[in-house]
Amino acid sequence: MLPQTMPMLDLINFARQQGLEISPDHLIENPVAVSIDEARILKAKWALRWKLRKCRGCENAFNISEGGLYYLCHECVEEAKQ
Ligand SMILES: [Zn+2]
Repeated sequence: MLPQTMPMLDLINFARQQGLEISPDHLIENPVAVSIDEARILKAKWALRWKLRKCRGCENAFNISEGGLYYLCHECVEEAKQ
């Protein structure tokens, strides 16, 4: 087994423990948005792998694969740039 495949298996196992799958772009397919605090409690290591996240700025749920940065939605990122 190639060394770089190990972290991905770890992520897949973590998602399966939550009853979730991994998307082709290696994100956890969570149906309910998680906040940064919830993500850290679940597993800090995978905090940036959740697809649906709760924005730290406006608290709206957003899909990171459609825009945004870390735990900020696209709108809040744009606002922060101004
Ligand atoms: Zn926001």
